[in-house]
Amino acid sequence: MAVLRSLCNRNVFPVYRQFYPISVLTSQYHASNSNSTSSATSISSQDNLNEESRLDNDGHPVLDLSFSCGKEAYRSKTTAELVRALFVFNMCSIPALVTHNNKLLKWSRRILGGPLFRKMMKATFYGHFVAGEDQVAIRPLVSRNKQFGVKSILDYSVEEDLSTEQAEEAEMKSCTSDFIPDDQTSLVSEHSDVDPDKQKFLAHKKFGDRRNKVISARTYFYEDEANCDTNMETFLKCIDAVAGATEANTGFVAIKMTALGRPQFLLQMSDVLVSTRAFFEKFAGNKGDILLRKFREEDFKKQLQAMGVQITRDDRKRWFSVLDISQDGEVDLLDWDNLLEVNMSLSKVFVVPNEETGKLEPLVASLSTEEEQQMKNMLGRLNTIAKYATQKGVRVMVDAEQTYFQPAISRLCMEMMRRFNREQAVIFNTYQCYLKSAYNNACLDMDLARRENFYFGAKLVRGAYMEQERERANDIGYEDPINPTYEATSNMYHQTLEEVMKQINHRERGRIAVMVASHNENTVRYTVEKMKEYKIRPADRLICFGQLLGMCDQVSFPLGQAGYSVYKYVPYGPVEEVLPYLSRRAMENKGILKKVKKEKNLLWGELKRRVSSGQLIYNPAKHIPST
Ligand SMILES: Cc1cc2nc3c(=O)[nH]c(=O)nc-3n(C[C@H](O)[C@H](O)[C@H](O)COP(=O)(O)OP(=O)(O)OC[C@H]3O[C@@H](n4cnc5c(N)ncnc54)[C@H](O)[C@@H]3O)c2cc1C
Repeated sequence: MAVLRSLCNRNVFPVYRQFYPISVLTSQYHASNSNSTSSATSISSQDNLNEESRLDNDGHPVLDLSFSCGKEAYRSKTTAELVRALFVFNMCSIPALVTHNNKLLKWSRRILGGPLFRKMMKATFYGHFVAGEDQVAIRPLVSRNKQFGVKSILDYSVEEDLSTEQAEEAEMKSCTSDFIPDDQTSLVSEHSDVDPDKQKFLAHKKFGDRRNKVISARTYFYEDEANCDTNMETFLKCIDAVAGATEANTGFVAIKMTALGRPQFLLQMSDVLVSTRAFFEKFAGNKGDILLRKFREEDFKKQLQAMGVQITRDDRKRWFSVLDISQDGEVDLLDWDNLLEVNMSLSKVFVVPNEETGKLEPLVASLSTEEEQQMKNMLGRLNTIAKYATQKGVRVMVDAEQTYFQPAISRLCMEMMRRFNREQAVIFNTYQCYLKSAYNNACLDMDLARRENFYFGAKLVRGAYMEQERERANDIGYEDPINPTYEATSNMYHQTLEEVMKQINHRERGRIAVMVASHNENTVRYTVEKMKEYKIRPADRLICFGQLLGMCDQVSFPLGQAGYSVYKYVPYGPVEEVLPYLSRRAMENKGILKKVKKEKNLLWGELKRRVSSGQLIYNPAKHIPST
């Protein structure tokens, strides 16, 4: 108790002024008060922390846009949980501990033995960042968070602890076709003189361990088809767990496409999509809206002639009919309606005419029969997940991954949307705003949804693979896909978000829904202010927020308690199998020391408040918000 008191006597509050000049905060205060929406916002000061929370017109606690109200942030936490959080954040601030966390965890496991090690982890890192061992164990936390306005996106976080060598080997095996013709074997070598834009979509041993320099996302490596089936089963179980814990059509599961099949297919498909796009760009000239242009067979023929492509009539007809999968007599880049049930040979689908020879040539090396089966398995698994989620009233968030997979991931995601988002948004795509192409891609996809009359769901993130992407682009020699500066990334995030809001208002209400997945307080503030400007109310449930469990509670909980729709990515899994996940969380928190400092200060402040108000033995159940 004495220790606690002395700790609580520290001056903890000036910290938020250090991040946000008072003029910014004051202008936000005026902005928020000049616009009446259902959820009021204000800037609190340290003086009002001891006051009872003020309520807005809907009976929600008023949102403190400086996110510095410890009382609201930790309303759902017991005092023991606050102390644990402080301990964990303090540990994350010790560089040597974080750098060697992997070894330290392994040694502790050996010295303490399994049962004691698990107890220690549950009392510390695991307890803070992970919800529990299985779907049953996580229920109390999921339901408590929900009572405090924060919903859950379940994320089964078991990861194989592969060595770098094992990861590289797995990657090279799974990203390289067994079926490479002799003249193309050089493509997989490190120092090939092949066009770097093509090499982007080939496996490179140096970058085979995709976990390298990635701390805020997990990585799947392909083992075999049975393993992908197991991953699919896990996602289906997550859907069951979400369906059991949430009202219909409000819960989410997160999936990664690299968990569901051989990544070689994603590489090849990405290559094809990018090449096809480049080809169509040439084909349609500078007439704008390239991806949405349609060509009837006659136009198609004329255009090929104009480009000097020598192609026989039969070849042209065959090519046209293969491209025109929907058989509506028109071809466009988005003419992939039946892709999820592809029944034809991939090598026939992925062809373009060679402009010099006029001959149709496969865009990628052919696939063996086994590989083609693997590709169909992957599409089948996606289909199964989407169908099951639809039946269960659960939405599916498809995570974005590296840029050499992402064109395929995004396209498959849009295909799933086209098929499953007919009545409501079930499938959500992810847009990484650190990409130069993010704004255009989001606009095109929203346009596609409008034209094809399906619901559009999106998650906006900044992006988790920046360092790795830059290094790979630089090494191989293709253009860096990432925005040049952090400011450019933030601008792109905000520009894309604003466009989404405009589109929400241009269309029938409910046609577009978006998750702002960010720990950045400025982005959250920006969203709240723009929602007011575009008259999108929190209760409309068209814009929601996403953060990770154990991080940024000062943002998530006040937002949730103020009536906004908020989700936490909730990881779960057995203690010893989520160690790689925990290791990454420690790294991530070490990397954002400024933010962690603020969280630590708020935790101290709340402890102090509880001590001084006689609430040290604090029961969250007695503080559940009334609405
Ligand atoms: C709920 C949730 C879901 C997520 N899902 C995905 C996902 O599917 N795919 C994915 O890739 N990531 C995902 N992320 C991770 C996310 O992309 C970010 O890595 C992470 O959240 C940090 O970004 P921020 O906006 O929270 O914070 P900030 O600290 O404001 O932003 C850090 C980010 O800014 C960008 N950045 C930093 N420096 C520069 C620079 N010099 N130039 C250009 N850009 C720069 C990087 O993207 C970096 O990660 C998710 C995050 C959350 C919370």
